[in-house]
Amino acid sequence: MKRATVGIIGGSGLGETILQKAGGQPIDVKTPFGSPSAPPILANWEGVEVAFIARHGEGHHLNPSAIPYRANIFALKKLGVSSIIASGATGSLREDMQPAHLVICDQVIDKTNRRDNTFYDQGLVAHVEFADPFCQTLRELLAKAGEKVATTIHHAGTYVCMEGPQFSTRAESNMHRQWGGDLIGMTCMPEAKLAREAEICYALVALPTDYDCWRPVKQGRAKDELLTEIIGNLKKATENAIALIHEALRIMDTSPRTCACHDALKMAIWSDKNAIDPELRDRLEPLIGRHLADN
Ligand SMILES: [Zn+2]
Repeated sequence: MKRATVGIIGGSGLGETILQKAGGQPIDVKTPFGSPSAPPILANWEGVEVAFIARHGEGHHLNPSAIPYRANIFALKKLGVSSIIASGATGSLREDMQPAHLVICDQVIDKTNRRDNTFYDQGLVAHVEFADPFCQTLRELLAKAGEKVATTIHHAGTYVCMEGPQFSTRAESNMHRQWGGDLIGMTCMPEAKLAREAEICYALVALPTDYDCWRPVKQGRAKDELLTEIIGNLKKATENAIALIHEALRIMDTSPRTCACHDALKMAIWSDKNAIDPELRDRLEPLIGRHLADN
């Protein structure tokens, strides 16, 4: 099977660019957790082997609760991916995080409640550290790459991940601000948790497309005018995110990683390794194989 070093998860705009600029090929990857949202597109972009997954599937048919997060992360792991750069649209909870800016998130508040959020839910117990949900090394790389991108880039931000698909009420939006949230979105979780469980470095570039409902809309503005503005902001933010990821790949050091993400399972498996069902070991081999090698 072909291999990739960097996984990219995002919207269809990103995928089209990778197809156009890097001439990628979609490939079929099977996982014990079903099929990924869409076949990963493999391409060589700026000398780096990348695998792109359209998070919402082809034609954006998967709502945030229905995205096969486990299959997506497992497929990337199987392809050899050691770092993931993800992007996603968000609503801004802060006046200064303006639409079409980019935010390299550093924290998450997870409010999702009906998604499969672990690979280790049967026959094996693992508790990975998650105090810092995003890879510091990747975040620094993105911040450096951002110096070449013509938009404001925020180097930190707390992402509130809600279940959706409906947006927040105004009371919830105000509460999220009081919690210290900077952005609200629906897709970062459990994606980041699963990446950590798979020992893959993961960073998220959030794309604020509008302000969440805490901020009063100017009187007299028509709904369709607002929607056109949001779509325009998303387009602009996507172009900025593509420029950022492109630059990050250009300056990326692809030698073996030294951050803690790649050893996240080392002390995390609480189950007796000798008692793990051989079938389960086989099923999860790409994730846990190296930790069970001596058992
Ligand atoms: Zn890392």
